[in-house]
Amino acid sequence: MATAARRVASFGTTIFTEINVLAQQHNALNLGQGRPDFDTPPDIIAQLVAALQAGQYNQYAPGPGTPSLRRAVAAHAARFYGLEIDPERGVIVTAGATEGIFAAVLGLVDPGDEVIVIEPFYDSYVPNILMAGATPVYVPLHPPQWTFDPAELRAAFTPKTRALILNTPHNPCGRVFSREELACIAELCIEHDVTVIADEVYEHLIFDDARHIPIATLPGMFERTVTVSSSGKAFSATGWKIGWVYGHPDLVDGVARAHQFITFAVHHPTQEAIAYALSLPDSYYRGLKELYEHKRQLLLQALDAAGLPYRVPEGTYFVLADFSPVFNGTPLEFARYLISEIGVAGIPPETFYCPEHSHIGSKYLRFSFCKNDETLLQAGERLAKLAIRRR
Ligand code: PMP
Ligand code: GLN
Repeated sequence: MATAARRVASFGTTIFTEINVLAQQHNALNLGQGRPDFDTPPDIIAQLVAALQAGQYNQYAPGPGTPSLRRAVAAHAARFYGLEIDPERGVIVTAGATEGIFAAVLGLVDPGDEVIVIEPFYDSYVPNILMAGATPVYVPLHPPQWTFDPAELRAAFTPKTRALILNTPHNPCGRVFSREELACIAELCIEHDVTVIADEVYEHLIFDDARHIPIATLPGMFERTVTVSSSGKAFSATGWKIGWVYGHPDLVDGVARAHQFITFAVHHPTQEAIAYALSLPDSYYRGLKELYEHKRQLLLQALDAAGLPYRVPEGTYFVLADFSPVFNGTPLEFARYLISEIGVAGIPPETFYCPEHSHIGSKYLRFSFCKNDETLLQAGERLAKLAIRRR
């Protein structure tokens, strides 16, 4: 009987699916997957409905993306970061950032190359690298500040290094990398002629005075960076799966070559709606920041009441909480205990590390706060039981 190819034989079910199934079985409040439990703004939905009914957008979109969305992506990069992007040759629209990252890896990395990955990493990066026939090389962020050791980063570069995947704002640590950290990465990438695949899907989820700096804006980096983002987080529309890759046309060309034979083109009417959404005024983006600052506060209060220490996230909608004061076991064991006994789901970070480094995340569980206030408050009541049981 035919079986799975060797290329995918080691891939298990994603942790997000595993935890969703468990959470549902136990009727737990799900602070696991970064999936808002509230809806997309109604004006953005209205744009999608209008596009569906316009009689012009229900057949294949142009492969690289609709002209309207490519223009909107370029205008957004100019407005927020002062980047000059060519909407014709410097933008590709993809099926979410997930496809954007995969197309970038396939289009810019050769078999046998090495790709540096910062740990904990988003779960699709390593399978993407392996499917491209390349080798991941891991550089961990160290708690409690969740920063990398510059010497460890430097040691990861070899003559085989072709690319580095950088995620800022960072899932799951909630870090927004500083200019100094980015300059250190940039210097090494320039010295070793390495391409950066910058995953910036949380670019608009930044709090207090934190500032998101795209690494493409650092001197010497534009020509060696492709930036990936998507509409899921900024517009609370994770189900729409519209993403994009932008940068220097010579690099985007490699991504486009892969993209045309992965999906060719993505959902046409939704691209029209996202072109509208990206062009929303600054007040929309400010409102999003305020909404999430409030939700972050609710979750942090819940963690305080439960007695779980954390580092306050500067960005994303995630917090890594240290469960060691209340539980003795692995993150997966704690996640299972929390779901079945307390009724709250979180994501254990084991699968965001290579086996040699998984001890670094061994006392943390990731909680997401892209949830209704009511869900967060109820989760707080349930989590408080942890502190009581401890006494
Ligand atoms: N990168 C990171 C860091 C993520 O957290 C996610 C998931 N939301 C993605 C990429 C995938 O984004 P999309 O849903 O647009 O494919
Ligand atoms: N990005 C989301 C998270 O980190 C989930 C995406 C997924 O389920 N693959 O929670």
